[in-house]
Amino acid sequence: MEENIVIYPSQFNPDTQVVVIFPGHEKYSDFEPLFNELGFGFVAPEQNMVFIDGGILGDENDMDIDILRFIEAHELAHVILGHKERRPEDEKDADLYAFILLGEKKFRNAQQYLVDTFLERHGEVFDITMIDKFN
Ligand SMILES: [Zn+2]
Repeated sequence: MEENIVIYPSQFNPDTQVVVIFPGHEKYSDFEPLFNELGFGFVAPEQNMVFIDGGILGDENDMDIDILRFIEAHELAHVILGHKERRPEDEKDADLYAFILLGEKKFRNAQQYLVDTFLERHGEVFDITMIDKFN
């Protein structure tokens, strides 16, 4: 297995490949400006791929699985909701839809991470009724 990169079909949509790239990878410096600009990950919809910054997950062999699941669900939510650009409202919707995706898989710790960090990302406290718009 190649070092410093992990690739797997998304557990939320197997048609989408998830690529986690770590700082030790030779191509990481190409991705770093995008991660810095766009946050912890981004979608390449034409390629059906999601790229995630391994640098915030810890070590390749000891990743924080809850944060990874949260980021993966968030990026997949962008794909599923058909977001084209990064508007603040889209970022919030991606989190809310990610909450639903994580719930379907019973990833409770990742859901809790989402809830705990919602305020710092969106400037308001998470409220369960916010997801009603998707039901
Ligand atoms: Zn996003």
